Amino acid sequence: MTVPPVKLNDQTTIPQLGFGVFQVPPAETAATVSTALEVGYRHIDTAQMYGNEAGVGEAIAASGIARDELYVTTKLNNGFHRPDDARREMAASLERLGLDRVDLMLIHWPLPTRYDGDFVSTWQALVDFRAEGGATSIGVSNFQPEHLDRIVAETGVIPAVNQIEVHPFFGNQAARAASVGHGIAVEAWSPIARGQVNDDSAIKGIAAKVGRTPAQVALRWHLQRGDIVFPKSTKVERMRENFALFDFELAADDMAEITGLDRGEAGRLGPDPDVFDYIPD
Ligand code: NDP
Repeated sequence: MTVPPVKLNDQTTIPQLGFGVFQVPPAETAATVSTALEVGYRHIDTAQMYGNEAGVGEAIAASGIARDELYVTTKLNNGFHRPDDARREMAASLERLGLDRVDLMLIHWPLPTRYDGDFVSTWQALVDFRAEGGATSIGVSNFQPEHLDRIVAETGVIPAVNQIEVHPFFGNQAARAASVGHGIAVEAWSPIARGQVNDDSAIKGIAAKVGRTPAQVALRWHLQRGDIVFPKSTKVERMRENFALFDFELAADDMAEITGLDRGEAGRLGPDPDVFDYIPD
């Protein structure tokens, strides 16, 4: 099964389908990621906040897979937005991952109500980190349209990706459109709405018609829209299920029906980036 590459605005490519490790317990991460690599995943999405970068690194080291066949993303944690902290902690991520560079480093959250409203100097720290070779690509996560406009206007550097919540029940249309408008690739987090797509009658109906599971139908919907996804599972059968997406296609009317499930803000499962201000201890 070949995962198609998506071309980013910095001329690099990213596998459109990957594996997310949010809420994978640190002690189980090495084994879980090893299983995902055996299933065929070559793109891993972690974060400092998840506390499991070391487990990701352990699995990569044990895999014997060539570095240039793997794509590794991590994210700067919320307590480290000041440039000095960002520099130190991005270097610490490389240590924990056992890598001399990541493929993609993101600012995890904009935190517009923290740091005197400054996320621009944080973005500049990522720009410098890339220039020094610590990351091949840099991007942001949970950035709203005005946050994107501001970092682009003030630094002239356009993020390669914006990783935002998107699933059939939350289209996140303004942030998605603003990203696309800047030429920024959209990474859709919680792509199967944390399993809730399994309970939706419209998605179940389409799944029955095409002979697939609701999770596969939802993931296929993302892929056909061009978004990058990395569903999370600790179960090997589901890892396989979520990876088997390239031998079927959804018809235009099925795509439109799923897009029509968007509940607007009411469908949001995670925090609102405009007010989210969590800083871990
Ligand atoms: P997902 O939409 O990937 O759903 C994961 C949940 O669904 C888990 O509870 C999993 O349980 C279950 N599940 C997985 N596959 C199936 C299946 N085929 N059928 C039924 N249930 C299934 O949610 P996530 O929130 O984990 O998002 C994916 C990734 O996105 C994260 O791991 C992380 O990398 C990223 N993310 C980024 C955020 C950000 O702020 N930038 C925020 C949230 C996520 P089980 O493990 O038991 O199989």
